[in-house]
Amino acid sequence: MNPIVAIVGRPNVGKSTLFNRIAGERIAIVEDTPGVTRDRIYAQAEWVSKHFTIIDTGGIEPDSEELIPKKMRQQAELAMDMAQVILFVVDGKAGLTPSDRDVALMLLKTKKPVLLVVNKVDNKNLPDDFYDFYELGFGEPIPVSSSIGLGTGDLLDEVVKNFPQDMDTELDEDVVKVAIVGKPNAGKSSILNRLIGEERVIVSPIAGTTRDAIDTYIEMDGKKYLFIDTAGIRRKSKVYENIEKYSVIRAYASVEKADVVLTVIDATEGISEQDSKIAGLAHDAGKASIVVVNKWDLIEKDNHSVKEYTKKIREELPFMQYCPILFVSALTSQRMGKIKETVDFIFDEASKRVATGVLNDVIGEAVMMNQPPSDKGKRLKIYYATQVGVRPPTFAIFVNEKELFHFSYQRYIENKLRENFGYEGTPLKIYVREKN
Ligand code: GDP
Ligand code: GDP
Repeated sequence: MNPIVAIVGRPNVGKSTLFNRIAGERIAIVEDTPGVTRDRIYAQAEWVSKHFTIIDTGGIEPDSEELIPKKMRQQAELAMDMAQVILFVVDGKAGLTPSDRDVALMLLKTKKPVLLVVNKVDNKNLPDDFYDFYELGFGEPIPVSSSIGLGTGDLLDEVVKNFPQDMDTELDEDVVKVAIVGKPNAGKSSILNRLIGEERVIVSPIAGTTRDAIDTYIEMDGKKYLFIDTAGIRRKSKVYENIEKYSVIRAYASVEKADVVLTVIDATEGISEQDSKIAGLAHDAGKASIVVVNKWDLIEKDNHSVKEYTKKIREELPFMQYCPILFVSALTSQRMGKIKETVDFIFDEASKRVATGVLNDVIGEAVMMNQPPSDKGKRLKIYYATQVGVRPPTFAIFVNEKELFHFSYQRYIENKLRENFGYEGTPLKIYVREKN
């Protein structure tokens, strides 16, 4: 995953103008009225070859009668949850205001890096009250002019300096990164070799920092794929692999880097606790997944085999009902083509964006069909939702009281989203926010 940079600040300081500047396109609609809904609130951006996602928290909610401090609190909380770097924007023309102090108080709670951006400094001369902003407690203020583009380069230098060391900043637009995980001997190497077997390996291996970190790039039918940690799969180091803990840790590292995870299970052994653990890693990391039941050639089959096997896996992985299950044989090549097809499909599903209007129609309908839960006379109200990210599809949902949004009702809403938008093979991530 690329780092997320969130823009926070009171209305009208120029958040959406800065967002446009950083995103490099005129995506958001800048209006003179504060609180106007933006079209796009997140975009892929790049600076010195480092790729990241930029989010304009000001665009998350539509125009509302919401008290401004409440609204800003929600935005700040969301930013502190999601982002790796927070841009706290203030208005250099207006000078320091009480609302800026309110935002600052919230942001001081986070351990994440917060850069204080003084916007609307349209020329080289700093305004007289520029240094007032020091007292907000975020160190040296960075002057920029988002509308002219002054100082934004220096700002972005600071931003990329603050990315966590271990985060991936490679462009992940058109390369699908695949991790193949599973127990030793499940057939991971055999599957990998089948998948890339007849294809031209573009660069292999690319040596990373250690011999362990070797990935394989290939192109199939004009699409690029990166198979992660292929040395760990191909080079047999059974001594280490057989230590259960080691292989789970290793799987974890690969899963973190992947877009799509293939969890390979040996059909003759069935799904084990370790398999669930590894599949669970992918789920928790928000990655699209396929369960691949390999060595299907060794199973004595009748008409019910697939159905029964599927049922068993669904029971073992109750949290991953969304995930396709494929029955394959790396030995005979049975259904190996289906793996590639499914990887492409669920990658697209996980990358899907749903427009805010349609999303709220679906949620509104879901709420009408099944009344939200209540507790002690108080009923859950869902005000508004918006998709704030992809891979995995990520939503912010605004409600009256978090505690009332029980797991079962969240699952109901999630199911409705899936019914309407698919999202096959990918987990969904939901941030619940209170506004009351
Ligand atoms: P937001 O509500 O924080 O997203 O603010 P907007 O991006 O919608 O900007 C609010 C107003 O400030 C608009 O009229 C912008 O044209 C103006 N603005 C934004 N950035 C700058 C800047 O760098 N210099 C000047 N002079 N005006 C700016
Ligand atoms: P890894 O440790 O997960 O990489 O597993 P390997 O790919 O090395 O496979 C382990 C063993 O299972 C090898 O002896 C393979 O030949 C065998 N194997 C792999 N896939 C299949 C399959 O689909 N059917 C059968 N019968 N054997 C397989």
